Amino acid sequence: MSDQPEGTRLDPWLDSYAARALGMKASEIRALFAVANRPEVVSLAGGMPFIGGLPLEEIGELIKRLIIERGEVALQYGSGQGDQGLREQILDVMRLEGVTAHPDDIVVTTGSQQALDLVAKIFLNPGDVVVAEAPSYVGALGVFRAYEADVEHVPMDADGIIPSALEEALDRLKAEGRPVKFLYLVPNFHNPAGVTLSMDRRPQIVEIARRRGILVIEDNPYGLLGFDSEPLPAMHSLNPEGVIYLGSFSKTLGPGFRIGWAVAPHAVKEKLVLASESAILCPSNASQLAISTYLDHHDWLGQIKKFREQYRERRDAIISGLEEHIPEASWNVPAGGFYTWVKLPEGLDSKSMLPRAVTARVAYVPGTAFYYHGQGADHMRLSFCYPTPERILEGVRRLATVIESELELVETFGTATRPGPDTVSFPAPDLA
Ligand code: PMP
Repeated sequence: MSDQPEGTRLDPWLDSYAARALGMKASEIRALFAVANRPEVVSLAGGMPFIGGLPLEEIGELIKRLIIERGEVALQYGSGQGDQGLREQILDVMRLEGVTAHPDDIVVTTGSQQALDLVAKIFLNPGDVVVAEAPSYVGALGVFRAYEADVEHVPMDADGIIPSALEEALDRLKAEGRPVKFLYLVPNFHNPAGVTLSMDRRPQIVEIARRRGILVIEDNPYGLLGFDSEPLPAMHSLNPEGVIYLGSFSKTLGPGFRIGWAVAPHAVKEKLVLASESAILCPSNASQLAISTYLDHHDWLGQIKKFREQYRERRDAIISGLEEHIPEASWNVPAGGFYTWVKLPEGLDSKSMLPRAVTARVAYVPGTAFYYHGQGADHMRLSFCYPTPERILEGVRRLATVIESELELVETFGTATRPGPDTVSFPAPDLA
């Protein structure tokens, strides 16, 4: 029998799992959602969009009419590639970022998360390397882990991934004989770092990848959510044959529909459709047609504009809270999206501090979630998308008290790091 980790329920099937399942473990975010959902906790953790900002009555009416008038289609199986009409409308959405494609280049997926899974499934052999920003979206890291790939993180600065650092990493990996399958990037309003890949760097990065024959995966759920600026051209627009673009309606409409998409070079698209059909047969027709009807009958661009204003107000709240209450930390001021990436004062550890933050009724995601090999304990991700500005300020105030007492520990003992569990489980001691 294999050794079972202490404190876990005995799993009689432990010896039966495929190798790819052994690396699967609950992420910090997953464990946190249970805690963060308690009303007394201010969650600056999960990236839940502000659904209260949607015109729910109108959307309800649209869906009601859809089912009454076209229920026989909406509730039926559909095409594996996705609804033709919706694929045409997706082109209108992507045109805002300079993507020109054909409806046949698009595969509709169950959220862009499924698109990520499909891309990994058709490209990654165990041991292959994915190059990604440092830090990187936790959900993508989970996918790469499930396919037993390795991830090499490349540093970013305020302008996104650093081209010279990317070249260095690719040279090194080549010298080590480690094959790189693709470069995974979130170029706009990065999750978790909040930064955007600058206009100057986009062609440079695309060119570095093109010269070396490395595919780029452009994961772009936040591109239309800039607070003050118009969207930058997608990397896909710079080299459609070398970039797979992933989009989503989760942040511009609602993740409950679970509709995203991939745009890929023709042959890759064919593989993606086959892989998707074997995974799910087809994406939900009801969700696709609901979104299609929404795009047809609602001022969706006006709704995105409202979201941008609402998220800007929340960004302002979190930044002014940080300035006022946690001046010992440093952070970036995101120009869009949902997240700010906070560097803790010297000596603090975001992972070991988390249980005490939850006890103080505030939640965040420790930086370690966003690195493949567990670095990042000196950072935390704060999301400002879901709570009201007042709640955000309250959350930052609570966080400030936790950081203050951590700093006292550092002063007295030289460290605030204490051994603790990998994940937080609820109830936390003082909240039960
Ligand atoms: N990529 C990034 C960068 C994300 O932040 C998310 C959601 N948090 C996703 C992909 C997945 O989104 P969905 O599956 O809802 O489209």
